[in-house]
Amino acid sequence: MEVVRITPRGYCHGVVDAFRIARRVRESQPGPIYMLGHLVHNTHATDELQAQGIRLVDPPSRLAGLDQIPEGTVIFTAHGVSPEVKRRAAERGLNAIDATCSDVIRTHDLVQDLARRGYEVIYLGRRGHPEPEGVIGEAPGHVHLVQDLEDVERLEIASDRVAVTCQTTLSVWDTQELIDAVRRRFPQVEVHNEICRATQERQEAAVAAAREVDLVIVVGSPRSSNSQRLVEVVRKLAHKPAYLVDRLEDLDPAWFAGVRRVGVTSGASTPSQLTRRVIEHLEAMDAPAQSVPETGASSGSGAGFDSE
Ligand code: SF4
Repeated sequence: MEVVRITPRGYCHGVVDAFRIARRVRESQPGPIYMLGHLVHNTHATDELQAQGIRLVDPPSRLAGLDQIPEGTVIFTAHGVSPEVKRRAAERGLNAIDATCSDVIRTHDLVQDLARRGYEVIYLGRRGHPEPEGVIGEAPGHVHLVQDLEDVERLEIASDRVAVTCQTTLSVWDTQELIDAVRRRFPQVEVHNEICRATQERQEAAVAAAREVDLVIVVGSPRSSNSQRLVEVVRKLAHKPAYLVDRLEDLDPAWFAGVRRVGVTSGASTPSQLTRRVIEHLEAMDAPAQSVPETGASSGSGAGFDSE
């Protein structure tokens, strides 16, 4: 069985920056340090940060989470928080450190600006994910969360000024489908596609590679939006089986019956040594194992984790 290492994969700049910030805080701040939600959406990364002494507070909403932090330093995660969370943290006297990804901050600024100019903003995103929670908080009552085509049909917006934007880690293709649907309902809509470059490049590489292999393994955690989307785009666009594995033990030998070539990619928050372990395991699964050399470079490295 050949193992094709799909590139780019793994850490993006936002995740690398979040780890750097967490390390700096750990080394410089006295007193308890909390992360308000998972710093990045990967089980192993969260475990590692907790082992380093950073405490996890993970309630359904960031505001509710703040109430569980009695004192000390709070790190806002790469997914961003609403202005209300920042205000409340300051009011409570907490030392707030913001690890929001610069690409997410750009969406916050955009929504703030649109709302200030009187726009109603249709925001394509996943319910229950912290990134929409933060962005919607920029203009409560003027940002309309849409997850699927049914939501588009249900929208009731009377304004002439309508804009559409999106969560940074959505599927490139599903988002275009939703934007087209929004445009049919609101022909005057102003479109701001905010899918980040890291997400787009990883999805395009996964779909292209998937056409040349029998099966794709995505290494990433179920909480990770961009990892979940990698699985979806391979299945939907390349019509190939794809599976998400959080750890080596998740690999099911039954998936590989009759498989000659397997592609491996990983989410933007997946520590690279996990991906490497999966690749080595697959290479050793049957003899003669053969690995196809990489064609590009995986990006970045984070505190406490190797880069491949
Ligand atoms: S996936 Fe994109 S938006 Fe999310 S942290 Fe990485 S670069 Fe930032």
